[in-house]
Amino acid sequence: MSTAVPTTMRAGRFLGGGRIALESRQVPAPGPGEVLVRVHACATCGSDRPAWEHGSSITPGHEGSGTVVACGPGATLPIGTRGAIYLVAYCDACRMCRRGETGACLRKERMIGFTHDGAYAEYVAVPERCVLPIDPEMDLDNANMLLDVLGTTFHAIRRSRVAPDQIFAACIMGAGPIGQGAIIALRGLGVSNIYAVDINPFRLEMATKLGALAIDGREGNVVQRIRAAVPDGPDLVLEATGNQVAQRQAIDMVAADAPVVVVGHSPNPFEVRSSVDLIAQEKLLIGSEYFGVAEYPDNLAMLRMGHVDPMPVITHRMPLDQIEEAFKLFWSGATGKVLIYP
Ligand SMILES: [Zn+2]
Ligand SMILES: [Zn+2]
Repeated sequence: MSTAVPTTMRAGRFLGGGRIALESRQVPAPGPGEVLVRVHACATCGSDRPAWEHGSSITPGHEGSGTVVACGPGATLPIGTRGAIYLVAYCDACRMCRRGETGACLRKERMIGFTHDGAYAEYVAVPERCVLPIDPEMDLDNANMLLDVLGTTFHAIRRSRVAPDQIFAACIMGAGPIGQGAIIALRGLGVSNIYAVDINPFRLEMATKLGALAIDGREGNVVQRIRAAVPDGPDLVLEATGNQVAQRQAIDMVAADAPVVVVGHSPNPFEVRSSVDLIAQEKLLIGSEYFGVAEYPDNLAMLRMGHVDPMPVITHRMPLDQIEEAFKLFWSGATGKVLIYP
């Protein structure tokens, strides 16, 4: 361990019922193949909700960035490497990893911030393969945005198997942080005709600012309004709500032989009619999980070349000791990503 690393650190402890305390903990010692990362920031995420509601024995935080400050036995990543923390400790050998789908690894060793301590803390120990370096001159806030906001959305677009130059119109269901990232990613790929459906005024305004045509889901018939503008339907619909009404609208509006890519989590069934939807119109329903590490260099290049700028998605920046307030604000829906700085 480097001498510059202290022995104790502050970490967020999710107690349940929306209460988050800060506690003093031992700085973890990086194990074999692991590195110790000094956390720069960690972005709030909708999937932190179970920990927020019910409490968590581990420290959540799966959208972290930081700097490598120490290496465990066998780890070779240079001290000082700055990057994003990839949440899936993938096996690199299973069917999905062999297909490049490391985000959906079938034998993940851990999920950082879910099964093991994450980045709502000053330090986190992670397998070195989970550090995705960014360019030396890039601000580290960008690294946080290369995870769920851009990584997940670029992956969803790739999963659609529709070439960007064949996307004449796209529709995003849900203009939360993922929907916002999808607008940025699609625009970066040259897609200009993007609709975004939401029911939250703040998010509708964000979608407009980012260059989408915002559709207020509270007004009129969403499918008819999209189809009035795009008679054959969008060539790609991204479902980022998990809401059954939005899911139905997505299937109804999408063009024949075109995909609805699902990134919005839900425990409920996604109802699709085999005859009308799947057979008669050959519509496609595609799930998409996180992103593969092999996609990361392309996403980083999009950022480097200035094709995407995810900074507008970060609407709030708060220190770790305000993490409880940060989540209250985040759940109000009147934010993009809130970055927490330990
Ligand atoms: Zn997330
Ligand atoms: Zn695997």
